[in-house]
Parts: sequence; structure tokens; C-alpha cells
Amino acid sequence: MPTPTDSPSPAETDTPVIEFRDVEKRFGENIVLKDLNFTVARGERVTLIGPSGSGKTTILRLVMTLEELTGGYIFIDGEPLTHQEKDGKRVPVSKKQQKKLRTRIGMVFQQFNLFPNMTVLENIIEAPIHVLGRPKKEAIAKAHSLLDQVGLPDKADAHPTSLSGGQQQRVAIARALAMDPEILLLDEVTSALDPEVVGDVLGILREVADSTNVTMLIVTHEMGFARDVSHKVMMFDGGRVVEEGPPEKIFTHPEHERTQKFLGAVL
Ligand code: ADP
Repeated sequence: MPTPTDSPSPAETDTPVIEFRDVEKRFGENIVLKDLNFTVARGERVTLIGPSGSGKTTILRLVMTLEELTGGYIFIDGEPLTHQEKDGKRVPVSKKQQKKLRTRIGMVFQQFNLFPNMTVLENIIEAPIHVLGRPKKEAIAKAHSLLDQVGLPDKADAHPTSLSGGQQQRVAIARALAMDPEILLLDEVTSALDPEVVGDVLGILREVADSTNVTMLIVTHEMGFARDVSHKVMMFDGGRVVEEGPPEKIFTHPEHERTQKFLGAVL
């Protein structure tokens, strides 16, 4: 299996697929992210690590526009996702613009978040048909091919509640991929799974990483997975990046004391 070190990190001269510029996120008085700046290049896979509560999931939720950005800017392919600067003022972008950019982003959640009242197939074809306007026949054909890919060819008509956690998560991955996302956000996708199925789900995601150029922003406690698939690892603490670099550097020679302590506790 090719590892990120076999291929050079994606070009950093192109417009970043994701850019955080002076991002601030507060929940009431609680400032969770402050002056956060980083970019993710096309095809790059970046893993966010750090102690619980350091703001990692919030970053993914901001990209998915599931949380309101309270300061700064996020750009997707160079286009403002939520706010832009106009005449020296920070103003919201149109709903249409936001929706357009959001269709390029897929997210897989810790708790699967499948629609319980729909079958597996309906879960997968819903957004391609209603958001992207794809013909139903085409969406169904793609859904079946994705169910093959995630190893659930015979579950199209099942309801999510009849599936195990690992199976539900595989459906959630198929659902995200059905949108042909440019960006895939993975939020602790194995944390709610039984240990014996974690490897299967990570195996599917490794294949996705190997066979596509999808840009990935990953939050995980699975350090082996992070090491295998990431081009870059960013260590967060208190809503700030304390250290970043290629996985072989961060996991073998972390420089910052916080990173050393964190990895000492989880590895
Ligand atoms: P991590 O993913 O690193 O564990 P989170 O992004 O989940 O961290 O949380 C960062 C901080 O934001 C925590 O202090 C958490 O309590 C707070 N937080 C997250 N979501 C909400 C919310 N919806 N309302 C209020 N506070 C929140």
C-alpha cells in the first residue's frame, strides 16, 4: 500500500482547498478557537490531534457550516464560505453561495447520523437527487456501486436500525462519497464502534485515500491510521496549533512538550 511518504505532499502553490484566516469561534463567553490560520492543499490529508476539548471537532463543524463562525474567514477553493470582507466590513455571504460550496464537502460523524426512517439506499441517494439534481436512476446505480465498495452489497433495502454500528458507519461513508465531495471531513468516525470492527472501517477509508484525490480533514484517536493516511498532522491545544508536520516527524520526534505529553498518553 502506498504511504503518503511515497508521494510528495500536494503542491502548496495552488489555491488551497480550505483556508482558515484569523478564525475565531466562541460559544457564549467561551472562546474555543482564536486567531486560527491554516491551509489545506488539494488532495492533502490532514489529521487534527490533541486533548479533548481543544477545538478539533469544532473546526470540522465550521467547515461543514454546522456551527456559526464568530470571527474571521473560511475559504473553500478561494471562495468565502460564510463571510467576506466588503468595504472594510465583515459581511455574510449569500445563502446560495454557502449552499454551493457546501455541496463540495462531505462529512462522516462519530454517531453515523443516518436518517432512521429511510432505507440504506434512500439515505445514500437523498442528497445526490435533491441537492445535486442527479437523475434518480444514476443516483441509484452509484449507490449500489458504493455499497459494493464498502462491503454491504445486500443491505440496500435495510433500515439503519437493523444494522450494526460498523455497518451503519460504512453506509455513512457511502452516503458522503455519493456526493463526490472534494473535501471529506471525518469526525472520530470509529470512536463509537466496537473494537473488532474499527479495522474494517479504517480499511475502507484507507482505500478511499489511496484511490481518490479527495482532500481530507480528519479528527481521530487512531494514531496508526493518522500516521498511515496523513500528509500532515496538526497538534491542537486550547484552540491553537502547538505543532504541525509530517506524521513521521510528529509521531517520532515531537518537539513541543504538549505534543510529547499527549502522544505519551495515547500511544
Ligand atoms: P475536541 O473535538 O478537541 O474534543 P470540541 O471542538 O468538541 O473539542 O470542543 C471545544 C470546546 O468547545 C469545548 O470546550 C466544548 O465544550 C465547546 N463546545 C463545543 N460545542 C459546543 C456547543 N455546541 N455549545 C457550547 N460549547 C461547545
